[in-house]
Amino acid sequence: MPDRMTRPRSTARCRTAALGAVLWMLAPVGAAAEQDSQALARQIYSDLIAFPSTESHGGTAEIAKYAASRLIEAGFPAQDVQIIGPSAESAGVVARFHGRGEREPVLVLAHLDVVEALPEDWSMPPFELIERDGYFYGRGTSDNKAGVATLLANFIRLKREGFEPSRDFIMLLTGDEETEMTSVAYFANEKRDLIDAAFALNTDGGMIETESGKPLAFDVQAAEKVYLTLRLEVTNPGGHSSRPRADNAIYELAAALLRVRDHQFPVSLNDATRSYFREAAQFHEPEIAVAMRALAEDRASLADIARLDSSVQLRTLMRTTCVATQLEAGHAENALPQMAAAVVNCRILPQEPPEAIVDTVRRVVASDSVRVTVTYEPTASPPSPLTPEVMVPVTRVAAEMYPGIPVIAEMSAGATDGSHLRNVGIPTYGVSALGEDTDDIRAHGRDERVRVQSFYDAVEYWYRLLRAL
Ligand SMILES: [Zn+2]
Repeated sequence: MPDRMTRPRSTARCRTAALGAVLWMLAPVGAAAEQDSQALARQIYSDLIAFPSTESHGGTAEIAKYAASRLIEAGFPAQDVQIIGPSAESAGVVARFHGRGEREPVLVLAHLDVVEALPEDWSMPPFELIERDGYFYGRGTSDNKAGVATLLANFIRLKREGFEPSRDFIMLLTGDEETEMTSVAYFANEKRDLIDAAFALNTDGGMIETESGKPLAFDVQAAEKVYLTLRLEVTNPGGHSSRPRADNAIYELAAALLRVRDHQFPVSLNDATRSYFREAAQFHEPEIAVAMRALAEDRASLADIARLDSSVQLRTLMRTTCVATQLEAGHAENALPQMAAAVVNCRILPQEPPEAIVDTVRRVVASDSVRVTVTYEPTASPPSPLTPEVMVPVTRVAAEMYPGIPVIAEMSAGATDGSHLRNVGIPTYGVSALGEDTDDIRAHGRDERVRVQSFYDAVEYWYRLLRAL
């Protein structure tokens, strides 16, 4: 609450409006244009971080108004900028940048909400953009307000430049990606006409992997694993523990869980993981690299597979996994258990139908006394194909800005808003283009930060990408 009361929102609004007017008159070109666009992006970024858009602070109602007002101030007609969502707390923004309509629209995506941040846990105020030692600090600096600022600043810059795209760009800023994802589900299932597009580009997926700031690889998220939770339950008449019966709920459940543990789901690749095994091989030990390339070319031996299985990270990319995570059983130390239950959480390869995984678990459990039920329904999310329409511009701009680094498609363990869009048939690609050291990723954590240069580079990447599309 204090954050909200002390935040000088009206002052910030006036300041940004004034800045916008000055930039407009300068009609920037070349290096000056780049500097002005950096100042614009930074101002928006700073304003966005100042909104504590978490569940406990009332969600995204206020920040959605801010985002919409920036676009309207910049000249987007009010009817093309809508604040809309399944509830006020998870309000989102949909804005349309009209093009010549030569091709189907492109959807560009970010989320306005952030994970909670307790001031007492941080070494600085979390809801204030602080620049220090070459970094921007603040909740959402990486996840995902850099993305929101990138989209807003570039829509405004392109509008000022009088740019007319060949196709419509639709910006979708969602309101509860970090919690329920009702916002994106609402647009995908009930407001499809507002966001319908040939494909979506998500600022909340993918990254530029860096080492001490030096770019190593440009990752594009093209698939996500599907989340599913099962409950395995055994019931039994029970009785006095002095008179054990032949059947026992705990033993039966334990035996079933061991069978789940020992089951190995088959190896399967999709476009994204095939690209990953091929292109990321160079960053692994030579033995593993050989096995990765062999798998990508469908000529992996059993020994290759065994080598890849020895890495948790690679194993989860090539197989569906199901693992026991919670347990409850019995009601007294001197009574035979009347009930024993376990939670089994599955991460399903997106090319595999979730129902088939449930069937497999039932078959593996192989016991009529163990009841298997779905307690968290999966959202199927088929992998997005690596089509040239997307990959050519994404790769070209990456090569322009970061010559020599590989562009690698990847599948993440999930889940982002992208899963709901893929679910309704809109292929979605995470191209945050935000550089982060892989050993210093602080999204959702304390003192979240992003390199100042990485932020400006991501803004510039998206500017060029939007023009290239
Ligand atoms: Zn995010």
